[in-house]
Amino acid sequence: MLDRIEKLRADILEESGNIKSTDLLEQFRIKFLSRKGLLNDLFEEFKTIDKTEKAKVGKSLNDLKNFAQNIFDEKKIQLTKSKEEKKSVTDYTLPGRTYNIGTKHLITQALEEITSIFERIGFKVYDGFEIEDEYHNFDALNTPDYHPSRDMQDTFYLESKGKDKRYLLRTHTSPGQIRVMEQQQPPVRVIVPGKCYRNEAISSRSLAVFHQVEALYVDTNVTFRELKGTLDYFAKEFFGKDLKTRMRPDYFPFTEPSAEVDVECYLCKGKGCRICKYSGWLEILGCGMVDPNVFDIVGYDSEKYTGYAFGMGIERTLMIKHGIPDIRMFYENDIRFLKQFK
Ligand SMILES: [Zn+2]
Repeated sequence: MLDRIEKLRADILEESGNIKSTDLLEQFRIKFLSRKGLLNDLFEEFKTIDKTEKAKVGKSLNDLKNFAQNIFDEKKIQLTKSKEEKKSVTDYTLPGRTYNIGTKHLITQALEEITSIFERIGFKVYDGFEIEDEYHNFDALNTPDYHPSRDMQDTFYLESKGKDKRYLLRTHTSPGQIRVMEQQQPPVRVIVPGKCYRNEAISSRSLAVFHQVEALYVDTNVTFRELKGTLDYFAKEFFGKDLKTRMRPDYFPFTEPSAEVDVECYLCKGKGCRICKYSGWLEILGCGMVDPNVFDIVGYDSEKYTGYAFGMGIERTLMIKHGIPDIRMFYENDIRFLKQFK
């Protein structure tokens, strides 16, 4: 029996040299180490041999079993290692990594688009001040002392102790009109885009910071009809060629007469839907003919000149244009939202 053990050892050694894959390793295991393998056959036979030989044969047999088991274990480690090494090799067929390129925020895009629409018809851009004095923000715009918008609850006033004026964060871009008129004689044709501040409770409809674009045109013989034509041009360029506009009378301290402008609902085309609250129209801006009092304040001859002005909120306009349900989404900077406006 000892001879057969030695013969099997030689076989195991020989076959171990051929183990090049996990399949071959498995075959090796079945052939030698499994319950029906050759080693087990010898163990079965071992039970029947003479007692005097048992000690010697038993030791050889156990040595052989350990020998085969060690070969199996070592090969197994080798094979898994080389498999991992293969995995870590660079795969040149994989697609490259993509990087997200930053884009302009949709408010910036809108400001640029609106600016460009008005520049095409001769308007120039004027950058007003975000910190204004009470005079330019209210008084010069014909807004009387008792007007509710002057209330602390609506306006952020700045610490103005020891100063000759009361300062505030501008509540609209309109003071830009006054500053332009103080600096130059007509004709004036400007737009004033920028940030405005109001002491508002934050909700889906209002924020304490928002953007406006203000426009002013002053010359001899400027008529309401020109205002209407300009706004119609703007609405068609910005919202779409096939949409109608309409005007409704309104009141602003610095224009007379004043009007609200509605554009036909882009979604239902005037039929009425949830977005337009079933009216078929969406309010986009306020406008009017500059009040002669304002001309008197800045020293323009109100007998000689007429002019129009209008202003719109950018966030509001974009909410209408894109059906954005909540104004706060503009500033949450959620990539999934911003990505839609590339
Ligand atoms: Zn609608």
